[in-house]
Amino acid sequence: MFYPTKVAKLIEELSKLPGVGTKTAQRLAFYIINMDKRDVESLADAIIEAKASIKYCSVCGNLTDTDPCVICSNTARDRSTICVVQEPKDVIAMERTKEYKGLYHVLHGAISPMLGIGPDDIKIKELLSRMNDEVKEVIIATNPNVEGEATAMYIARLIKPLGIKVSRIAHGIPVGGDIEYADEVTLLKALEGRREI
Ligand SMILES: [Zn+2]
Repeated sequence: MFYPTKVAKLIEELSKLPGVGTKTAQRLAFYIINMDKRDVESLADAIIEAKASIKYCSVCGNLTDTDPCVICSNTARDRSTICVVQEPKDVIAMERTKEYKGLYHVLHGAISPMLGIGPDDIKIKELLSRMNDEVKEVIIATNPNVEGEATAMYIARLIKPLGIKVSRIAHGIPVGGDIEYADEVTLLKALEGRREI
């Protein structure tokens, strides 16, 4: 199909987004072209500004526009508990339960020998550096798959000798499923049913 070069470029860029196939990209492109000029500028600005202002929290590794992030700097949060997750979107999933009041640590991945991802490739050193007298429990909420379990075991082996309780969220999250897609009730049950490892 023939498109003017600029439209073809827009379709190409949109189709790089997750879950957007060529057909959807075409639909979005034509929708954008028909949008009010101000709305298009507002959309483009929002994308550029979000990208420019968002960084990772220097404490927990979560996405933030302030450093430390709002969770790390919130004095009402329980500083004795740190929940370890793989990705920033998992923090959002945990926060949706509205029950967890502790802090987080985002690993930015999981150990995967198959993909050549070792402990030094994710934020495990940064997690260890946060262990102090204040921390009483580390809850590991990595995904329930081979990589997530291997990561949980690796972390437990390092932290338990420090005399800090290490727990793993309970199953109930479908095996092979992602924390980010678990609904609030499932995630809350998994959190409440966590067991020490
Ligand atoms: Zn933080």
